[in-house]
Amino acid sequence: MPLVPMRLLLDHAAANSYGLAAFNVNNMEQIQAIMEAAKETDSPVIIQASRGARSYSQDAYLRHLMLAAAELYPAIPIAMHQDHGNSPGTCKSAIEQNFTSVMMDGSLKEDGKTPADYNYNVSVTRQVVDMAHPLGISVEGELGCLGSLESGMGEAEDGHGAEGKLDHSMLLTDPAQAEDFVRRTKVDALAVAIGTSHGAYKFTRKPTGEVLAMDRIAEIHKRLPNTHLVMHGSSSVPQELQDVINKFGGKMKQTWGVPVEEIQRGIKNGVRKINVDTDNRMAMTGAIRKVLTEGPEKFDPRDYLKPARDAMKKVCIARMTSFGQAGNASKIKPVGAREFARFYSS
Ligand SMILES: [Zn+2]
Repeated sequence: MPLVPMRLLLDHAAANSYGLAAFNVNNMEQIQAIMEAAKETDSPVIIQASRGARSYSQDAYLRHLMLAAAELYPAIPIAMHQDHGNSPGTCKSAIEQNFTSVMMDGSLKEDGKTPADYNYNVSVTRQVVDMAHPLGISVEGELGCLGSLESGMGEAEDGHGAEGKLDHSMLLTDPAQAEDFVRRTKVDALAVAIGTSHGAYKFTRKPTGEVLAMDRIAEIHKRLPNTHLVMHGSSSVPQELQDVINKFGGKMKQTWGVPVEEIQRGIKNGVRKINVDTDNRMAMTGAIRKVLTEGPEKFDPRDYLKPARDAMKKVCIARMTSFGQAGNASKIKPVGAREFARFYSS
């Protein structure tokens, strides 16, 4: 099966009322973990790479790993997505590297740090849509800046994210502006700011409506029933993963993520893509710490990479199941990007 445009998967998810986890990758074991989880649960897959991941793994490795995944799992539709593209140039290079979907994050300027004004965001996002849609490539935009409603701070991870204190209004996507943004840019999917942030330290306690504005999602969905909403920074940071890391010599501070039941509420209100990275990172790290602590004599990387891969696979299976994407891979008729271009011209 060829890599498919993300829009194809999001449309199927919307038509059948489920959500799709979008897992970040930067190496082979992570891709293997996701694909094995998808095979076991019959799940369609969104794999994404940030700019940092692309430079870590190098585009050629990543491109061939994704081709390997498509070859080894012909029954699973896979979309390959650029996470947080900082410029039309980054999105263009992703498309040249076989990505079937790109995010143009024009909520920040090209430095990936400075909040951008609305007109800039509309203009760069529209530019990417004009480039991508004729090729059948999907586009995700972002409106509002990710950051904490608890502290008012933006957040930077992997060199991307607003720096410093942000105005409260910037941390929440405005529903009326969202409607205008989608009309003017024609994006397929829209990432919204509702108080989630990247990384492990999202909330200092179990989040309530004041710091995780799920109601905002419902309001935006009401105005944009046909736009696929995206939740970024949506790892759940489960206690047991924190405990494994700390039990085996780690020093993670106590933290809270986005509870799975809140994500399920989002899915009922138009959320179709849920970005998950931290949970997988934590699962792998905990498994590696355990092996090396219990077997300090070990030195074959496979001794700890296999358990790490298995631990990540378990997290992927759990998310695929609770978001509802399990059982849907075999129901999707694959369409390659070039063929999908017709969808936009008709
Ligand atoms: Zn993000």
